[in-house]
Amino acid sequence: MTKYDPLAIEPKWQDAWEHDGLHHVNEDAAGPKKYVLEMFPYPSGDIHMGHVRNYTIGDVAARHATMRGFNVLHPIGWDAFGLPAENAAIKSSSHPATWTYANIETQAASFRRMGFSYDWDRTVRTCDPEYYRWGQWIFLKMWERGLVERRSSPVNWCPSCKTVLANEQVIGDGVCWRCKTRVEKRELEQWYLKITEYSQELLDDLDTLAGWPERVKAMQANWIGRSEGADVVFTLCDADGAPTGERITVFTTRPDTLFGCTFFLLAPEHPLVMRLVAGTPYESDVMGVVEMAARETSVERSSGERAKRGAFTGRYVVNPVNGEKVPVWVADYVLLEYGTGAVMAVPCGDQRDFEFARKYGMPIPPVVVPEDDPLYPRLHGVKERVLDQVAWEEVPEHMSCAYAGPGVMVQSGEFTGMRGGKDSEGARAVVDWLDERGLGRETVNFRLRDWLISRQRYWGNPIPAIHCPACGLVPVPEDQLPVVLPMNVDITKGETLADHPDFYETTCPRCGGPARRETDTMDTFTCSSWYYLRYCDARNDGAPFDPAKVGYWMPVDQYIGGIEHAILHLLYSRFFTKVLRDLGLLTFGEPFTNLLTQGMVKLDGATMSKSRGNVVAPDDMIARYGADALRAYILFMAPPDKDLDWSYEGLDGMWRFLNRVWRLIDEIAEESTSEGARASGAAEKGLRRAAAASIMKCGDDVEGFQFNTALSAVMEYVNAVHDYRRDVPVGERDSTLLRSAARDLTLLLAPFAPHMTEELWHEVLGESGSVHRQSWPAFDPSALVSEEVELPVQVNGKVRDRLTVAVDAPESDVVTAALALPNVAAHLEGKTLRKVVVVPGKLVSVVAS
Ligand SMILES: [Zn+2]
Ligand SMILES: [Zn+2]
Repeated sequence: MTKYDPLAIEPKWQDAWEHDGLHHVNEDAAGPKKYVLEMFPYPSGDIHMGHVRNYTIGDVAARHATMRGFNVLHPIGWDAFGLPAENAAIKSSSHPATWTYANIETQAASFRRMGFSYDWDRTVRTCDPEYYRWGQWIFLKMWERGLVERRSSPVNWCPSCKTVLANEQVIGDGVCWRCKTRVEKRELEQWYLKITEYSQELLDDLDTLAGWPERVKAMQANWIGRSEGADVVFTLCDADGAPTGERITVFTTRPDTLFGCTFFLLAPEHPLVMRLVAGTPYESDVMGVVEMAARETSVERSSGERAKRGAFTGRYVVNPVNGEKVPVWVADYVLLEYGTGAVMAVPCGDQRDFEFARKYGMPIPPVVVPEDDPLYPRLHGVKERVLDQVAWEEVPEHMSCAYAGPGVMVQSGEFTGMRGGKDSEGARAVVDWLDERGLGRETVNFRLRDWLISRQRYWGNPIPAIHCPACGLVPVPEDQLPVVLPMNVDITKGETLADHPDFYETTCPRCGGPARRETDTMDTFTCSSWYYLRYCDARNDGAPFDPAKVGYWMPVDQYIGGIEHAILHLLYSRFFTKVLRDLGLLTFGEPFTNLLTQGMVKLDGATMSKSRGNVVAPDDMIARYGADALRAYILFMAPPDKDLDWSYEGLDGMWRFLNRVWRLIDEIAEESTSEGARASGAAEKGLRRAAAASIMKCGDDVEGFQFNTALSAVMEYVNAVHDYRRDVPVGERDSTLLRSAARDLTLLLAPFAPHMTEELWHEVLGESGSVHRQSWPAFDPSALVSEEVELPVQVNGKVRDRLTVAVDAPESDVVTAALALPNVAAHLEGKTLRKVVVVPGKLVSVVAS
């Protein structure tokens, strides 16, 4: 007898696999390819249970696919640039590179202890010049295609991280995604990637992602935010109220409500505002609103909850449909970053405009009303504006809020009587009318903004650009890549590249004159937008990747990671893929065919965190139970997309189960030499059926990422073997069948408990070749078909019919089927059913009177 000793077994096999290059793959192997990928980690130091879960899911999927005959790519790397390295370096008076590379070593060692089947030869670290030079190269290619722009605009500034942020990185209530500090607005010149060029395609292609969770697709669609409507041109009037000819365009999804526009709004940051009010009596009120708005986040300002603030500018614009002059106000709920920063206010149809009109006493004339509205008879057919002088207090009860739904157009000139609403007949008619007069046109608007990628921080990929006083912005020539991030920056003094003349002083590649190198670095999300391509050809030093190798491995068949990346990383990667396709480097437009977003690992319902002090350290659990028990436990406790509540009892239970399997296989191995095969009886048939059912269910469930039920199926098989050995005396057991069961169990558990099964395979079962290079066990489908029996069915003691059912059919099914037999039903007509007795395998007896 041997004992299950994971602490001895696990390091032994980890070394052997690495020595044998077991997980090394290339494009030449037989079998269809499968690319299984987990989102690469940030090198934060020790791994946590979230890592264990994420990477075990991927590892089991990868190992199982290999056993199913796929040529599997399963790589790992590190998303190694970023601010935490700088902060940690400041704390420890070291260099971000020192901290980062040390953490990578720590994490890599933990991953090895977990037994993950990575091809380490393909490791990517985004802070290596060999990697980031190709990020710079892709940036230059984007620049050539007109997808890079440097421009000045109000941007999100995190005062704690001391850098700008992309819109996608401002989360929740307007806070920094990383440090949760309130984000401020600043007017700065920054670098942008024009992701908006791909808005429509990024939206449309969501429909092709059948293997993505609906929730993630909905979040992306919402973020892209497509809306159909019209651009409408208003004309600005001078201080005396005469039209100046200067045009201001607004976007609206409801051109049918134009007749209800009674005022016009500008965002406080709108460049026109200062010009309109400077030196006028309105200046101080307007500037008061501008200053207050600057202190609040976009989220706060656009919240429906809070009171709106505004001020009149003293100026007017002309409404193009009726020539009316409407006052121009500044309002804090209008945001410059969406649309044009100018809004036609229609208080009867928009709740925020309605509340604003009430607060500042502006008219609220209804222009689209439902036919069952009490106002409708009074307004039916009214072309001229008759209620526009009605103060809101006089508006009937039902006008206590705006009405945004469909209805009939009233008080709308020649359009009165038409159907109004989104995409309505009336809306189209108004747009056509405007279009004919050059005052508007049909258009589509997106919420998605360009991606702001420049960061005023050191530990990132330098932007390969040069500012020349004579030539302007000049790209760094390709043959001068990479722009190497210098290591002599003293981060403890808060230095950035802008503090280092030896970095930024350079000559212009175009005119040779003195010039200044760009000192901003790229958002780390640019590094993570293409790393999955680099894994396909990680050591290439002449190109980011060989298109042929990428063509073989990509797209990623199964991607696994957290829901927090639904908009950030997953949207950016889709964008990069489409750009690289348009550059002729890829033949596909979507990087990830299937996506699994795993749930969190919690303790007593709370997220594990160092600050809460409720962390269960994976390395501690490995030291006690071994990695195999931890792996199987974390997959057994919950379906992978659900949150999991940590349980020490659960881990202990999995440890005991693995011990039970070990003993069982060990005993079978010892007995199998001493017993002969016997004639196949009912016990053997039962075990064969259990084997077939378990193998089928386990395989199906692993493929469907239902690892918990896959493991349950293995447990049922183990129970069936135990039952067989209990019921059949030693000496009469079918040793071939038991030996086959021992092999099956080892193979079924191999993806979950790779070390234990490798040891069983070699040392206990005496097999050769790695267990991880064996085929997934086959099963005999005919064993699944249960035997049938024919039962006579008696009614009051006389056989009236016969029923064919499965031997193991549940009693309730037999009763239902028996009572449904035509001849039985006929003999029961008019009688009351008293009793049905089922004698299994013999007969069914119905008593009625
Ligand atoms: Zn921050
Ligand atoms: Zn120059």
